[in-house]
Amino acid sequence: MTKREGKPMKIAVLSRKASLYSTHRLVEAGAARGHDMLVVDYLRCYMNITSHKPAVMFRGEPLAGIGAVIPRIGASRTFYGTAVVRQFEMQGIFSVNESQGISRSRDKLRSLQLLARQGIGLPVTGFAHSTKDVDGVIDIAGGAPLVVKLLEGTQGIGVVLAETRKAAESVIEAFRGLSANILVQEFIREAKGMDIRAFVVNGRVVAAMRRQAAAGEFRSNLHRGGAAEAIKLTPEERSTAVRSAKAMGLNVAGVDMLRSNHGPVVMEVNSSPGLEGIEKATGVDVAGKIIEFIENNAAPHKTKDRVKG
Ligand code: ADP
Ligand code: MG
Repeated sequence: MTKREGKPMKIAVLSRKASLYSTHRLVEAGAARGHDMLVVDYLRCYMNITSHKPAVMFRGEPLAGIGAVIPRIGASRTFYGTAVVRQFEMQGIFSVNESQGISRSRDKLRSLQLLARQGIGLPVTGFAHSTKDVDGVIDIAGGAPLVVKLLEGTQGIGVVLAETRKAAESVIEAFRGLSANILVQEFIREAKGMDIRAFVVNGRVVAAMRRQAAAGEFRSNLHRGGAAEAIKLTPEERSTAVRSAKAMGLNVAGVDMLRSNHGPVVMEVNSSPGLEGIEKATGVDVAGKIIEFIENNAAPHKTKDRVKG
């Protein structure tokens, strides 16, 4: 690895654990380029939000001299994690992804609405509040088989394939009975359990992989036993990934797509995409690309979210 020319920076990785693969790799890639890297457990950050000098305290000491932060906020910690990121933003500290983009990406419905507004290909998707409207949303999704998803699910948990209309009705009623928010989606059968993860950094796809679901499973998540390998994207897939990251206001994003009969359709856009699967499948130094992005873009008071919604 080449040592970076110019000024080294103090970069904080906002992560629960230094030993996580992605966290470790970001620290390693930053250090290799001469930066002062530190891992900050965002749940151990606290702050005085009314102060004129909005410092972030970490384990009792103010975090000083930070040039940039890399948020790696866990899905179950979005609320507190984004508040910490926002506090850094209030100090004019550059964040690789901004708090608003992270919040947006954690709500699948909001994300799909933003993507739809930009004309990005999506599986036909419906949502409803009342169980009286179950029939209606099932019709929107084109009837069975269809996919029912919890709005805030992750790692494939909360994604159910309903093979028949009766099964779909039962699943929707069960979720709604638990007051869970769901969406109902056309099942892209032709994807045959394969999905594509495009890793976008600063408006470019830097690495891409395909994930194939384990036998008897339609969800290709690596956490569900999926297998990954490098893939070459079509120009349409590439531009869909880049446009999706932009629509969400994310500089670093993992865009998940399915190959449908009518071109790529986006399922979700991740704001803290894992590095392990993609680096191992493609051999690309994705962590290094993120550090490079910081070097070329971090400046005080530079970040500004431009997505309206
Ligand atoms: P999660 O946030 O839990 O990863 P996803 O929406 O990404 O939820 O869905 C998980 C997996 O399920 C996807 O990677 C894909 O393999 C499969 N899947 C999701 N939606 C569909 C769909 N509409 N048609 C076919 N397969 C789907
Ligand atoms: Mg997914």
